[in-house]
Amino acid sequence: MTTPMFRQYLEVKKKLSGEILFFRMGDFYEMFYEDAKIASRVLGIALTSRSNGKEKVPMAGVPYQSASSYLKKLIQAGYKVAICDQVEDPKQAKGLVRRELVRIVTPGTLIEEDLLEEKRSNYLLALSFGKREVGLAWVDISTGEFFLSQGDRQNLLDQLDRIRPSECVVPEKVFRQRGEVLSKIQKVFPRVVLTPLEDWFFDEKEGVRRLKKLYRVVSLRGMGIEGKEIYLAAAAALLEYLERTQQGKVGLLQPVSVERQEDYMYLDIATQRTLELLDTMGSGGEKYTLLSTLDRTRTPMGGRLLVKWIVQPLRKREAILERLEGVEELVEQRELRHSLTQALEKVQDLERMASRVQTGSITPRGLAHLRSSLATLPEVKHLLASCSAKILKKLWEKLDALEDLKNLLERALSDWPPLYVQEGGVIREGYSKELDELRFLSQDADQWMEEYQKREAERLGIPSLKVGFNQVFGYYIEVTNPHRHKVPKNYIRRQTLKNAERYITPELKEFEEKVLDAKEKMLALEAELFQKLKEEVRKYVPSLIQTARAIAVLDVLLSFAQVAVERGYVKPEIVEEFVLEIEEGRHPVLERVLEAPFVPNDTYMGRNNYLHIITGPNMAGKSTYIRQVGLIVLLAQMGSFVSAKRARIGLVDRLFTRLGSTDELYLGYSTFMVEMLETANILNHATERSLVLLDEVGRGTSTYDGVSIAWAICEYLHDVIRCRTLFATHYHELTELPKKLQRAANYNIEIREWEGEIVFLHKIQKGPTTKSYGVHVAKLAGMPKQVLARAEEILAQLEKKHRKNSSKLSQLFLFAPPSDSQLREKLLQIPLDHITPLEALLKLKELQELAKREG
Ligand code: ATP
Repeated sequence: MTTPMFRQYLEVKKKLSGEILFFRMGDFYEMFYEDAKIASRVLGIALTSRSNGKEKVPMAGVPYQSASSYLKKLIQAGYKVAICDQVEDPKQAKGLVRRELVRIVTPGTLIEEDLLEEKRSNYLLALSFGKREVGLAWVDISTGEFFLSQGDRQNLLDQLDRIRPSECVVPEKVFRQRGEVLSKIQKVFPRVVLTPLEDWFFDEKEGVRRLKKLYRVVSLRGMGIEGKEIYLAAAAALLEYLERTQQGKVGLLQPVSVERQEDYMYLDIATQRTLELLDTMGSGGEKYTLLSTLDRTRTPMGGRLLVKWIVQPLRKREAILERLEGVEELVEQRELRHSLTQALEKVQDLERMASRVQTGSITPRGLAHLRSSLATLPEVKHLLASCSAKILKKLWEKLDALEDLKNLLERALSDWPPLYVQEGGVIREGYSKELDELRFLSQDADQWMEEYQKREAERLGIPSLKVGFNQVFGYYIEVTNPHRHKVPKNYIRRQTLKNAERYITPELKEFEEKVLDAKEKMLALEAELFQKLKEEVRKYVPSLIQTARAIAVLDVLLSFAQVAVERGYVKPEIVEEFVLEIEEGRHPVLERVLEAPFVPNDTYMGRNNYLHIITGPNMAGKSTYIRQVGLIVLLAQMGSFVSAKRARIGLVDRLFTRLGSTDELYLGYSTFMVEMLETANILNHATERSLVLLDEVGRGTSTYDGVSIAWAICEYLHDVIRCRTLFATHYHELTELPKKLQRAANYNIEIREWEGEIVFLHKIQKGPTTKSYGVHVAKLAGMPKQVLARAEEILAQLEKKHRKNSSKLSQLFLFAPPSDSQLREKLLQIPLDHITPLEALLKLKELQELAKREG
């Protein structure tokens, strides 16, 4: 026979799909059956049992007050947890207490402070798949941010690496098939939890309907949404999943922002990872990332926004200039910068607090934190009022000093309220007359007790008589055994101890009822007042969120300014022209961590000089140099000052890199295959406005293969794509290229030989290198002497032979004519139906030039 409690439990469990059920019973969340066994194993808690009729059911429990630490462990172990709470006061309940599912906690739907990372967003992402496109919708319910975007199915990993969701909702069909896309996601992002959802929820029309309902609008046009976009299908699924996990209470989502690729510089996954923007590839730890170099943010929301700005630099000049102008003012106005920084120091996570206020889950302590965070807002607003940069003025407009809210919280909340309202002492004296009276009564009780004790002790002649209280017997009078004979008749015995007896009297009982009643009333009233207070605070949520966002932007701008001052960065000039000029540029991360002084280097690129072939011995600093150029461009376009003496940056639409080995990205492919895949991606997607950084492409195969591929890639980048390119290589043959390609130039990194040793100067200069010094580097690495000597010997012989061959080889490349098929392909590509006469003439000229080379 199933007991009523278990019947209720099983009813709830039936609604779930595999989540562990936390079933609230008094002060505990209990788990039963298989859940209990899992929890006991994962959480290291005792496995007990509870009888259900004749059956003994496995049971394990965690205290309600500390549930979140257990939740964290289960979530981290990959489980989802359904929370079932008591929804009526057990004292009032007739029979079984009513219980309801209130939330399903999954990695992507966390709101608990201690389950979230302060400076990282926690995104839940839904994906909808078209033939070639993919739709993305993602939210962080701890802040209410909500984004939509779409892109090429092929480039999904790039987007995922930028968004870094904790959980990804995908159509059931896709989930079951476990096709290429999903298995790639799992390999590259092993920590992302994939959650299937019924296919029919992924529907554009449904997306439109749900978004209209969510934002209470009749059309989505105002948000820039037409109605057919593929991300709408993802949005529909996302909102459905939120409804399910939040049991209908989705909370407040901020206005949805539709991300358009044309607004941002595109970074693919290889670039994000090899430039070590947020994480390091090796064992260097966080110290070596661009994020750690730039992060001087003081608030969690500033920290989260910085992450976003780093992986999403801007592409529109106006927007970049706006940020730069703000940073400039903060750099120049030292006092202002210091005062603002100090003020922000005291601001806590307003954004996540706002979200907790909205869902009603904020604690009394949380409201106190909100109150102290509001304290410096008027000062921030006041300081911003004097600023002249456009972006700072805008922030001034958006920032609400929220003084009414602060006054309300000051009036209502006690100085240091407890974590939970049940503990009492939340509401400040003077806020509610009724509460004050009840408090007075219960405080009075202590005095009454003292007096009563004194009176009875004197009356009965028992100096040791004590009046006390315990949870089981309530108020009692304690008389030690030697005085027992003095106890009057109206004393009623309640408890016998070793040396004493405990009694009650009608008078004490009457008093007890009054006091307990007052205490109970007091707690109930306090809970009610706190509830009302939360509702009052909820009215401020939109202003709070807007203010939190303004603070976040201000915080990142301040952080940029602070770094600029500390590290001597300069404001870059941002232009539409096709240039890239960097004077005395430095690698922003390396210059921080290197013990030796960093050697700055220049870069000059323009219409007539956009392909740089960089040679130099091992360890000279080729990789450092080309990475530094990429990072400086990134810094500039995210609106930061840059690590250089002067910089003039022609806008870049995409930054491509093929640097080092990233084989682990695509488990299953060889190093050379990864190299070719990444390079193919670059050649297929780079435009004239892109910046391409290539390091040692073609190294993973035989020399002839390698040089041929590298040579052809350079030609293609130079002739067809015509984009700014830095190509670092060990193939000296490639230094012949500038003879053939007019807009290419050789650079090398200087070294000196001194008393048989080599000195790395790390200085870039015009012209090719001729020697590679690999054996010297091997020596530096501590290779056995015998090996080194033998290598020198072989090298000398090879060099003799190779000198002849090598010049033949480069002659071969140099004069290799473009193939017929290249001409043919170009001819066939001409769109005869759309071309203007002028364009036709230009095309003809281009073809003729190509043909001339053939001759
Ligand atoms: P390889 O061909 O072996 O890959 P490389 O030419 O790419 O070598 P890097 O890896 O860029 O060389 O640099 C090697 C080391 O030289 C760096 O780790 C750094 O310590 C130092 N270095 C490079 N550039 C500079 C610089 N501009 N100033 C000071 N030190 C530098």
